[in-house]
Amino acid sequence: MTAHAKLPNPPISDPVSDLPVVPYEKLEEIFEDIRKHPVYDHEIHGCLNCGICTATCPSAQYYDYSPREIVQLLWTENLEGIYDAMQEKIWACAQCYTCAARCPFENSPGGLVMIMREVAIKHELPSVKEVLRPFSRVLLKVVSTGNQLAPNMITKEAFPDWGPNVAKVDAPLMLLRKAIPMPTMHTLDTAWEVNLKTSVELYTIWEATGVLKQLESVDENLFDVVSDVMEEKRDEWEEWLEDNEDEDDD
Ligand code: SF4
Ligand code: SF4
Repeated sequence: MTAHAKLPNPPISDPVSDLPVVPYEKLEEIFEDIRKHPVYDHEIHGCLNCGICTATCPSAQYYDYSPREIVQLLWTENLEGIYDAMQEKIWACAQCYTCAARCPFENSPGGLVMIMREVAIKHELPSVKEVLRPFSRVLLKVVSTGNQLAPNMITKEAFPDWGPNVAKVDAPLMLLRKAIPMPTMHTLDTAWEVNLKTSVELYTIWEATGVLKQLESVDENLFDVVSDVMEEKRDEWEEWLEDNEDEDDD
């Protein structure tokens, strides 16, 4: 459907929105990137506007967010609405895919949100930096250790919203983790230890698939730190290989 392209003088932004005016061509470009995503046609097939997805969506219970609205915006090619939703709403989805399991049209609003997030990063929308900034510590942890959260990141100060349950993190974590049979879990710095070869392979995948390029556009400082970590691990891996070759020769 390209109904929007036929409008003689299309509006370029919502007059009551605080967002800066965006050229209509830019809105079209963003939508085109969403539409031509390899899985877009798999995630949307129509929409009854029935609201079943929103009724079962956990994020809709807590935020100004509705998967029904996201699907409707895309299905009706509401370019201004899509752009507005990409400023904040798309970041509220928890990616649980309850919506996909319930939709009578077999749409996946969660999958569509994922596509919109990728396109938001590609176009370096202002919302991306703002939303992802608080996650830089977690991102660094994932890239440098292969883990998302480490036991020593779970502190009372970091999770005040846990209420009375926060007392549980005062438990002797190291002692408890040593009781786990796998030695790779006898640490508090990572949830588990990722083998050096696996880390180096992951960096190669992230490089080849453009993930690191996306990171650079979102947070240049974090990208620099991550690049240093990667170089160090690659050197370590090369050394390990050389040492083992020497041993084999002996
Ligand atoms: S459940 Fe499916 S058909 Fe119903 S509003 Fe949501 S996306 Fe549309
Ligand atoms: S995947 Fe997102 S939109 Fe779908 S139910 Fe979960 S939180 Fe809601």
